[in-house]
Amino acid sequence: MIPKSHPRAVSLYIREKLVGGFREGLVVEEGLLAHGRGEMFDYLLGEKTSKVSHEAIRAAAWEMVHAKYPVISVNGNFAALCPKEIVKLSEVTGAKIEVNLFYASEKRKKAIANELKRHGAKEILGVDSKFATRIPKLDSARRIVDKRGIFSADVVLVPLEDGDRTIALKKFGKNVITFDLNPMSRTAQTADITIVDNVIRGMPILIDVCRKISGKKISKKKFDNKKNLAKSIQTIKENLRRMSNA
Ligand code: ATP
Ligand code: MG
Repeated sequence: MIPKSHPRAVSLYIREKLVGGFREGLVVEEGLLAHGRGEMFDYLLGEKTSKVSHEAIRAAAWEMVHAKYPVISVNGNFAALCPKEIVKLSEVTGAKIEVNLFYASEKRKKAIANELKRHGAKEILGVDSKFATRIPKLDSARRIVDKRGIFSADVVLVPLEDGDRTIALKKFGKNVITFDLNPMSRTAQTADITIVDNVIRGMPILIDVCRKISGKKISKKKFDNKKNLAKSIQTIKENLRRMSNA
């Protein structure tokens, strides 16, 4: 049990979720390391959803609500951290859910699919090999996608994704939205919209904004991802400056 009064209680609670996911076979060892990298950036960002991230969330919500064929790509970390929110976002936007793993294994795919079903998901793509196909320009095992999912999508939400894959998805013509706490990663820099926030905090906000704007006539606002990322890097710089002056 993590005492509520612990100064890092929220961070420890998130970590527990991931360790639980690891024990249940959803998360791989490398996923734990990726989480550690995320934690470090979250620390530097002040562990809150910035105004800058809210802007990215609004742009992402617009794209997801107006997409013809949106797909949410789910890996082990994402499933362990916010299974309920993945299902909700899919319900609110009509997006398909595809299990898509960097370290693929049939057993882990099934475990993730079951976790999402336990939280109310009806259809999970990426599990039935009958529908497996490839995205071009990416090496073998990592390029497998579902014909009815990412392959056919116009807008893809790929949180906590690897840079090579994001680049391949972009080359394949997808409109890519991601959550990435590292504003300097290749994924963050390559995506069309990068939400620099912890999925734990950002997903409920994204769902909320999607709900608010769906069915309403709202015009698209200009969004410059590179500028938005630069502002997050600036936030880190400011935080470090403040701390180093203390
Ligand atoms: P890239 O391949 O894009 O250059 P990388 O190799 O440094 O990045 P990966 O392990 O490929 O990192 O991708 C995982 C990304 O997810 C990391 O940038 C990490 O900061 C981020 N991340 C980890 N946990 C979270 C989280 N809970 N919410 C948002 N982002 C996260
Ligand atoms: Mg990587």
